[in-house]
Amino acid sequence: MKTLWATVIICAFALLFPSTLAAVPHDENEGEVHRILRISKSGEMKVSAETHFGHHVLTRGSYRVKHRAEGAIHTFTFIRIGAKDPREFPAEEIEVRTTALAMPKPLGVSLVYTEPEDSFDLVTKIVLAGENVEHVL
Ligand SMILES: [Zn+2]
Repeated sequence: MKTLWATVIICAFALLFPSTLAAVPHDENEGEVHRILRISKSGEMKVSAETHFGHHVLTRGSYRVKHRAEGAIHTFTFIRIGAKDPREFPAEEIEVRTTALAMPKPLGVSLVYTEPEDSFDLVTKIVLAGENVEHVL
């Protein structure tokens, strides 16, 4: 019964605020929902599914993320940390060049946006906390 009431309340909410809900993607298969990875304040990121940056691949695991800017080209370095077996990851680090595009307002968190592909997630952009640009791949 509790579940039913929760459903009724959610439906009522949807009727009252259709515009707020329209902004929230509801179906993962529509390609609107992107998995978003978070870079912690200490600059670490956990990858839970194979993630591609162009032709670079990050396998599951934890990474330290470094960022440097040279004009409009901003480069990220992902360094594998905490691997039980170093052979798990063929390269110690990968470097990804991105193009920085102006963003109206900086975010308070660092996020890596992805799009689902058949067997992996493809990174589309990276936003760093406090930086008023988005890094497009
Ligand atoms: Zn940057």
